[in-house]
This record gives sequence, C-alpha cells and structure tokens, in this order.
Amino acid sequence: MLSLYNTRSRTVEEFSPLREDLVTIYACGPTVYDYAHIGNFRTYVMTDILVRTLRYLGYTTKFVMNITDVGHLTSDSDSGEDKMEKGAKREGKTAWDIARFYTEAFLSDSRKLNLLDPDVRPKPTEHIAEQIAMVSVLLKKGFAYSIGDGIYFDTSKVQNYGALAGQNREDLKAGARVEVNPEKKHPTDFALWKFSYPKILKGSDLHHPRSDPAGAKRRDMEWESPWGVGFPGWHIECSAMGMKYLGDQIDIHTGGVDLIPIHHTNEIVQSESMSGKSPYVRFWVHGQFILVNGEKMSKSRGNFYRLGDIEERGIDPMALRYLYLTAHYRSYLNFSWEALDAAARSLTELRTQIGNLRAQIARRRTLSQEKLTKVEGYQAAFRASLENDLNVPQALAITREVAKSNIPSQDKYDLILDFDEVLGLTLRNVMAPEPVGDLPDEIAVLKKERDAYRKTNNFQKADEVRARMEEMGFTIEDTPQGSRVKKKTI
Ligand code: AMP
Ligand code: ZN
Repeated sequence: MLSLYNTRSRTVEEFSPLREDLVTIYACGPTVYDYAHIGNFRTYVMTDILVRTLRYLGYTTKFVMNITDVGHLTSDSDSGEDKMEKGAKREGKTAWDIARFYTEAFLSDSRKLNLLDPDVRPKPTEHIAEQIAMVSVLLKKGFAYSIGDGIYFDTSKVQNYGALAGQNREDLKAGARVEVNPEKKHPTDFALWKFSYPKILKGSDLHHPRSDPAGAKRRDMEWESPWGVGFPGWHIECSAMGMKYLGDQIDIHTGGVDLIPIHHTNEIVQSESMSGKSPYVRFWVHGQFILVNGEKMSKSRGNFYRLGDIEERGIDPMALRYLYLTAHYRSYLNFSWEALDAAARSLTELRTQIGNLRAQIARRRTLSQEKLTKVEGYQAAFRASLENDLNVPQALAITREVAKSNIPSQDKYDLILDFDEVLGLTLRNVMAPEPVGDLPDEIAVLKKERDAYRKTNNFQKADEVRARMEEMGFTIEDTPQGSRVKKKTI
C-alpha cells in the first residue's frame, strides 16, 4: 500500500485512487520564458519518480504536465509583466519565438534526465477557448467580477480559501503585497483574464478597446474574448487543462512548495467553484527546494545552474539525476559541485558493477533457496521503501546493496534493471567492458595514454593520441563507463 504525504491534510495518508482502474496526475510544468534550472528539474524528477512508482506498483496512470507559455506574470499578485513578453523584449524576438525556443530546450534537458513523457503536454495558448468558457461560468455563477484591467475571482465567495497553505483568508490578506490595484475587491482576489488594453469611457459606457487607443501593439500574445482583447491568468490555465484532460477531480497534483500559497490555492477555488465538486485534488504532493549555500536556488537570486552548466564541466546529466535520488523529496537538497562529483562517482561505480554483471551473465544458474529468499527480500524492501512516502534514498541504498550481494549475476542484473524502472538511471544501456586483451599491445598503450590525458583535462594531447590511433585503423569512443576502442570496419 502506497503512503504519501498530502499537503492538504499535512499527514502521510494511504493512497488510493478515485477510480479503481486509473490514477490521474497533473504536474505544473515550466514557464518557457528562459531555461529551466536544476532546481526546477528537481521538482520534475520528483514527479517522474512518483509516476514511475505508481506504474511499478501496478497502477495504470494518466499523467498530464503542462507547458506555461502565456499569462505567468513576474509578480504573483497579478501585477508586473507577462514573463513571456519580458523574455521577448530581452531577446528582441516575439513571445511566440521565445516559447518555441525554450520549450525545445526544456524537452531536450528532460530527455537527458530521462524524464517520462507525459500522456498529454498541453499549452494554454492552445486552450484559450476552454479558459474563456471557464471564466464565463465563474462569472455566471457569481464567483468573478470585471474591473479595469481584468476579470477577477472573488475569494470572499468561497469558504476555506487558503486551507492548503494552512492559512485563512485574513492571514493571506495580511501577507499579500501592498496592493497595486485598488479596484480589486479583496487583496487575495486574483486575475482569471487580463485585458491587454484598459477600459475607456465611450459615451457613458465603459468599454474595452480592441487595440491600443494610441495604435501601439502592446503584446504578442492576446486573444478576443467576450469581455475584451486579453490573455488568461496563470492559475486558470492549470485548472482548465487539468479538468479537460483529467476530469473534475484529480488524484494527485504535484509542484514545488512555493506553489502552495497562491497558484495551487487559487487552482482549488476556481475548479471547485466551477464543478461544485470537492476536493479538486485528493493528494497534493509538493517537492522541497534545492538550495545553494542555504538559499533557494532561483533565477531572481542569480544563484542557479542549468543542465548545460553541468554538461560543460564534462559531467553526465545522469549524475544529477542520481544526486536528486539521494535526498527525500520533502527535504532540502543542498547543491554543490562536490556533492555532484560524489554522485557522479557513485553512479560510475554502479555502472561498472552493471557492466561487469553483463559480462558474466551468459550462463543462468538455478537459484538456491537461500538466494531466492534473498532476491525476494530485496524486492520487498525496495517496494516497501517506495511505498513509504517515496523513500527513494533508501530504495537507492537497497539497489547498491543488491549490486554488492552474492546472488547470481543474472538475477542480480535482472533485479537492478527492474529497480531502474523507478530510478530511471538508464542502467539498461550500460555495456559490458571491452576485453582489453583483444587490442594490439601498441593500441592498448595508446588508449591508456589518452585516458590519462583526458583525466587531467589535457584534451589537445588526448586528441593527438586519438588521431594516431585512427591512423593505425582504430576508432575510440568515450562512454560513461570509459573509453572504448574498436577496429575500423572500412
Ligand atoms: P517556474 O518555471 O518558476 O514556474 O517553476 C517550475 C517548478 O520548479 C515549480 O514547480 C517550482 O515550484 C519549482 N522550483 C522553483 N525553484 C525551485 C528550487 N530551487 N528547487 C526545487 N524546485 C523549484
Ligand atoms: Zn500550475
């Protein structure tokens, strides 16, 4: 039985899905105005492990993770610029170009970290009609009102606003920033739809113009709506897309802890007011931050690293995934290059063990009763650690214990690959080491020489040795398990 910490109840609860045959999962995805950093990716890897665990435990899953490509403003209190438009100005491109470019970058990094593809990856720019429909219903039901710069959700119309954050509306109100929009009825009210151009008086009527009265185009991304040209708010996006693909009630919703007090709090009231069903989400699972020297890694603090920075240092992205696995998702993880190097060394050790196993597994032996019991024991322990609120560090420790155990190679290999369905370290791709004895002595010496140059980052010398080897009819390839020499076939 899987137990998960539910932010909604602040306790570890036994998990069971609403429908017996399917677990629905929604994850807040990246805002594609810039590269995602490795703090963001910690949260995505947490969701990835959760989905893999559910599948490992035999559940069928439907997993949706959005790409936010419009409406996420620089300030959470519905003021400031749209991050996409800001990105466009920064790079002298259109917001559409920015979205396309950083979506590709995100997908490329996701593949390098072996993240599962969600079943649906919706974008708000492709779901404008659904969001407009939802705002219309909220207006009709009296949960929303229109003011100069947008349509807002009226948080006084719902009970328990802020319960997810363990706060009542008054606390949240007191905590809200100095209000920049005096037209809002309550400080906690939030935008569902924002107008590109503010209201103007036409005769005795207030009305929203279709374009800037001065003729300037203010935004790249804007759409017609029954209330005026504009764009959706960030929170309505996730509600509209979550409900479209997963229904009125979702089993599990994930994100980082910073999304609890505003984004997820607002998603709940919009969705529940729309459907009349509660709870919108049965299990809220939130990942804790990555820190750098005790501070949250964030773009605004400038203390962030990207996957590209890690690759530039010659470190395999999979070492980062390994580092994530070493901490429980509800604990802070302090990032340092030393910690990443240690993770890379542990990963290399595990891969070497796997490679050696592969070299040994030609013959299958029957398992003695003692060894069979051992295998089953490891399997049960691995499963139990995941079931215990995703204790991945423990699951990883069990995997390492298996690698060192005395169970027969084939069974050990099979067991670790089975565990890797959850860990996602791509251990299946590890090859058996090449028997060095097959290489002519001279080539073996050159290989060693080149390895030594590479170790000390003397890449120029290493390339010179490679060229000599090539002249002698051998190619050399660098793999995570070290260099591999092959005879040229043509
Ligand atoms: P954003 O693109 O800013 O909406 O963030 C994407 C995801 O990354 C959200 O779920 C955030 O909660 C999460 N996140 C942001 N900073 C960190 C961090 N330092 N460590 C872990 N997760 C983070
Ligand atoms: Zn979201």
